[in-house]
Amino acid sequence: MVEARRASTRWATRVIPFVLAGFVGFASYVVVKRICLDFFLDRQQQSGTAVAFLVVYSVFLFLALVSYARVWAEIQRHPGAVPLGPNALNQRKPKKKGRRKSRAHREDDIEAKAYDSRPDSNPDSPGLEAFYSRDVFVCKEDGLPRWCSTCCNWKPDRAHHCSELERCVLKMDHFCPWVGGIVGETSFKFFIQFTFYAAIYWAVVIIAAAYGLSSSINSGAGVDGFFIAALAIGAFFELFTFTMTGTAVRYICINLTNVDYLKSKVVVHYLALRVPRGTPPGHNYGVVTYPLQELSASAPSPQLSGQTITDEHPASARDQLAKRTFAIIKTEMGENPWDLGPYRNWKSIMGSNIIDWLLPFNPSPCSDGGNSESLYELGPLYPKLRARYNLPDISDEATVISSGDEMKEKKKPRQEEEDQTGTNDDTQASLE
Ligand SMILES: [Zn+2]
Repeated sequence: MVEARRASTRWATRVIPFVLAGFVGFASYVVVKRICLDFFLDRQQQSGTAVAFLVVYSVFLFLALVSYARVWAEIQRHPGAVPLGPNALNQRKPKKKGRRKSRAHREDDIEAKAYDSRPDSNPDSPGLEAFYSRDVFVCKEDGLPRWCSTCCNWKPDRAHHCSELERCVLKMDHFCPWVGGIVGETSFKFFIQFTFYAAIYWAVVIIAAAYGLSSSINSGAGVDGFFIAALAIGAFFELFTFTMTGTAVRYICINLTNVDYLKSKVVVHYLALRVPRGTPPGHNYGVVTYPLQELSASAPSPQLSGQTITDEHPASARDQLAKRTFAIIKTEMGENPWDLGPYRNWKSIMGSNIIDWLLPFNPSPCSDGGNSESLYELGPLYPKLRARYNLPDISDEATVISSGDEMKEKKKPRQEEEDQTGTNDDTQASLE
């Protein structure tokens, strides 16, 4: 379980469910007891109206509660936090036993500055292989993946650092104390299902209270203050849940998270796209070859961009084969490499059929750890980028297969490329 850094946030996430339960309890009392049973059934003798409201109310209350429980549990159990790097782990260990006062945090922050938060200079840096074993990954101008200096880890594609949790989170969307923590890759689907059912639930409360109120006035029974209170509470929550649902549906359809969206118009992504081994730099792109030779920790080697890294140490033929070369390219401002089109974007998060869309059981398909091409499925921009930069095709990559004592160079068959997927998935599994 990953807890919020600030005590006030931790308490808010614990208290809010009880506050919500209080409002839902009050709404249930007004709709079920006062409106349906006391007013429509007993006073007005309108059993049809009473039963209709009771059924619709119960169904959407149930769906809202189930999806709330699901998003809450997912956020506690699988928040999608990226494992900390060794330096950050060592730094944070004593904290668990330590005090949790704000003063203690300030002291920790000062201590934190003392440890080495620079990008890991080890070519075998933990987690690095998970990037270059795929054909495409997000990088910086120098061809290295993005580094989080707080978590001391390489940031997976599309992950962002959450300052509330002090952790990097996969496809981080936003921190939401209403549902108990960070909404991201693992919980976004359940979050939107919850806001959707909650919006319908509060709409039912509003309709029941408004209809009860007008019937009550028309029948001469006067104005019931409880009906008005339920109407006001319903309107308040409807505003939030309806807006949240609308916003979330929009983000799904354009395949952006809340965090992505803030910079979506001006963002430029640097991507490492695999090219045949030993491909020289182009006139508009640099190349980088992995596994890296020794890196300079203080400043990323200028060799990395614009030039091929040359291997100064003699290596075996097999070591040579393990090398993978990537072109470092950048997108135009505002381009989204993961935009698959609205329907496929929707399916990548909500699932492939209507049962998945409506019920909070199966996780999002996009959280499956990706494939040998990339961590998240790439949209039509990917082939366009390869064409734009005139990158050579990776299917031309040659590989050497051992045949007795002899090493032969041979074009890689399709099947072998697929076999690699297993290895890559294992590497990814160690990430999450
Ligand atoms: Zn981080």
